[in-house]
This record gives sequence, C-alpha cells and structure tokens, in this order.
Amino acid sequence: AKAMGRGNFQFFTEGMNAATTRRLSLESELRSGLEREQFVLHYQPQLDLRSGRLVGVEALIRWNHPSRGLIPPAEFIPVAEEAGIIDAIGDWVLQEACRQLGAWREAGLDPLRMSINLSTGQFLDKTLPARIAELLEVHGLHAGLLDLEVTESVSMASPNETIEVMRALTGSGLSLSIDDFGTGYSSLAYLKLFPIRTLKIDRSFVKDIETDPSDADICDVTVLLAHRLGLEVVAEGVETEAQLKFLRSIGCEKIQGYLISPPVPAAQIESLVRRHPPI
Ligand code: C2E
Ligand code: CA
Ligand code: CA
Ligand code: CA
Repeated sequence: AKAMGRGNFQFFTEGMNAATTRRLSLESELRSGLEREQFVLHYQPQLDLRSGRLVGVEALIRWNHPSRGLIPPAEFIPVAEEAGIIDAIGDWVLQEACRQLGAWREAGLDPLRMSINLSTGQFLDKTLPARIAELLEVHGLHAGLLDLEVTESVSMASPNETIEVMRALTGSGLSLSIDDFGTGYSSLAYLKLFPIRTLKIDRSFVKDIETDPSDADICDVTVLLAHRLGLEVVAEGVETEAQLKFLRSIGCEKIQGYLISPPVPAAQIESLVRRHPPI
C-alpha cells in the first residue's frame, strides 16, 4: 500500500508539473499573441423585437492561434485574468472595437451600438473613463454608441464602489448593461441605484424557456422588474422561433442568439446591416 501511495504521489507531482508547464506556456503564448496581434473580435448582432431591426452588436474576443486555430474566450480569459494579462487584452478590445466603429462610420454604414465586455480589473480601473474618452475622440465617435457590459457578480461585489465607478463612466454619455443577470446574487436595492440602461438575461434561463415553466417565469419576472426600474432587457442565447415568440410576448425588447446570427467577423456584420438597416 505504501509503495502504491508513493507511486500515486509521484504521478500526482508529474501531473501537477505538466499542468503548471502548460499554464506557463499558455501565459507566455498569450503575451506574445497580444504583441503579434493574434486576437480578433467577432461581433454578434442584437435584434430589436419592436422594430425587427439590428440595433447593435456585442464584441466577443477570439484568439487566432497560429497552430491551434480560433480559440474561444472561455479557454484563455480565465488564464489571462490570473496572469494579470487581462487588462492589456481588455484595453486592446476597447481600442479595436472603437477602431471598428470608426471604420463602419467611414464606410457609410448606419450607426450600430457596440457592447463591450469589461473584466473586473478594467471596471475598477480609475483611468478607464479617461481612456474611453480618448478612444472616442481619436475615432470621432459619439459616446452614445458605446455600451459596456459588467457582470452581475462584478457589479454586486462591492455595490457602493460600483455606483461611483458607474457614475464616472456614464458621465460621458455611454450606457451600461448588467451581463449574466440572474446567475449570481443581485441586491434589488442596489440594482435600483445603479445608473444602468439594460439587463441581459442569461442564456441559462432562455435555453429551456419552452419546456421549463420556472425558467419561463424567471424571464417573465425579470422583464417586469427591469421595466419597473426603467431598464430595458436583452435576452441572450435565443436559438429558436418559439423562444423569440415567448420573449416578445413578455415584452422583452431585444434578443441576441444563434437564431439571428452567431458572432461573426466584422465584414459579415456589414452585409447583415446593409440588408437590415438599423434604426
Ligand atoms: P458572454 O458575455 O455572456 O457572451 C455570450 C456568449 O454566448 C458568447 O460566447 C456567445 O458566442 C455565446 N452565444 C451567443 N448566442 C448564443 C446562442 O444562441 N447559443 C449558444 N449556445 N451560445 C450563444 P463566447 O464568445 O464564447 O464568450 C464567452 C464569454 O467570454 C463571454 O460571455 C464573456 O464573459 C467572455 N468574453 C468574451 N469576449 C470578452 C472580452 O472582450 N472581454 C472580457 N472581459 N470577456 C470576454
Ligand atoms: Ca456579454
Ligand atoms: Ca452574458
Ligand atoms: Ca455568460
């Protein structure tokens, strides 16, 4: 038994080393990926259910890895967060999204709002409002075109601080959304005080909306709550016509999901918009 224990231990250490080595190489690859501009943004359109038009896009990062191909954010964002590279990546996302908005404007495309996901560190970074103002100026953009998404858990972690940070951000005229709403814990008293415009219902509630009455109720009540607080609602992960129909019936304003389009490269957004001009 002793020998086996030792054997297991050794195996365990080797396993740890392998994992650690992989982690470290992923970290250094992330750093060089950033330098070599291997990241790309894909954009997922948001449809306004009232007008039937595209009104905005959410920017979603991918890593175009030279040998492994397109890597989804779930596989590198957590590592980037732990390694402290997330701020640099987040800043690249802001830059690139603003550059793209400027390019779309130059191309004569009707204005689309751009939603950008913020990491915790970015959200709490006191220099963020000035950085955004700078980017807006460089690209000649109106702040109203930007929407910043903060997750429910980030915004509720320290709500008094959140209010201040949010005020500083919205001062310039941009808008804020609470992402993944319903997956964490929200204090309604604080939600009421946050200067936000939108609640995004998490895909986990939308997925089984047709078959699970409690998910349907959760969506229904979230829309009611949002409207009472003067907020609009975007439902995420809409994949079927039946989900769309239900969401429309409960008064949800906007949807995002594979039913409309998966996240796509910028050029595909251009052709989508030319076919369905935004309002
Ligand atoms: P999220 O912000 O909740 O983004 C929505 C995710 O749902 C995206 O995954 C999107 O591709 C996926 N999705 C959209 N519609 C559907 C659908 O109809 N069905 C299904 N099954 N999935 C759908 P993605 O692009 O892999 O991003 C995952 C997460 O990574 C995001 O979740 C966000 O938390 C994070 N992320 C992405 N880009 C950034 C970024 O630039 N900065 C930061 N900090 N986080 C990011
Ligand atoms: Ca999001
Ligand atoms: Ca989300
Ligand atoms: Ca999510």
